[in-house]
Amino acid sequence: MVLFCLLTNVNMYAKLSSRIVRFDLFTLYLRQPELLFFASMDLEKTKEQLINVEKEIASCQLCPLYKTRRNIVPAEGNPHAEIMFIGEAPGAREDECGRPFCGPAGKFLDQLLDSIGLQRADVYIANTLKCRPPANRDPLPEEKSACRKYLEEQIAIINPKIVVTLGRHSTETYLPDLGGITKLRAKLYHRANGIFPRTSLPTADDAGLYFFPLYHPAAALHNGAMRQTLLDDFAKLPAAIAKVKAEIEKTKKDKIKQEKL
Ligand code: SF4
Repeated sequence: MVLFCLLTNVNMYAKLSSRIVRFDLFTLYLRQPELLFFASMDLEKTKEQLINVEKEIASCQLCPLYKTRRNIVPAEGNPHAEIMFIGEAPGAREDECGRPFCGPAGKFLDQLLDSIGLQRADVYIANTLKCRPPANRDPLPEEKSACRKYLEEQIAIINPKIVVTLGRHSTETYLPDLGGITKLRAKLYHRANGIFPRTSLPTADDAGLYFFPLYHPAAALHNGAMRQTLLDDFAKLPAAIAKVKAEIEKTKKDKIKQEKL
């Protein structure tokens, strides 16, 4: 029975997760095969937590957008993603299909991911709002404020190494004091723990969260210069992730040293 559960979960893991995670699983199998079972159980727990958030969103009436939405658009992707993208709000296509970035901007996001050797299944994609604002208008501050708790629950569950904010709205949610997207884009910003005022959920590792703002793919779709800028900025993402990983490792080591003192 245990062997059956193990095989079923590992198969599900392989279907759901990225090449990176699959490689990690293979490495884990070679080094410590007994831990494979616990890794698959961990994935199941993460998926269950994400489904619980989705259920909360489905019954949410915290702002008036629930009255006009056709579908909720919670998020999608690899539950163990190292990179989490946060867009603005669902558009007409997303409202129809219930998935983030399923229209032309999503196709461009796929191209951007491909340009650095990633696929959608490697990352996690969410929005600041989970329901579509009518006529694709900008999200209102009170809507963003009401919906923020779901996004933060998702960030805490995914526990990404890096959060890529796409566009002005998601960037100003987490970096409101630093300036506009044009100034902030393609650079790394660190926020220590305690940035989530509305939830008591833990943040990514003990090191806090790292943000990497970029232009929104929809804004760059019909603007050749901005499109190239976004491609160039995206090319800087792998180096930013490597830097974050090194900083997280250093924070962990420093913490262990301090605990020994
Ligand atoms: S946008 Fe967010 S806060 Fe508003 S109804 Fe939808 S889930 Fe609730």
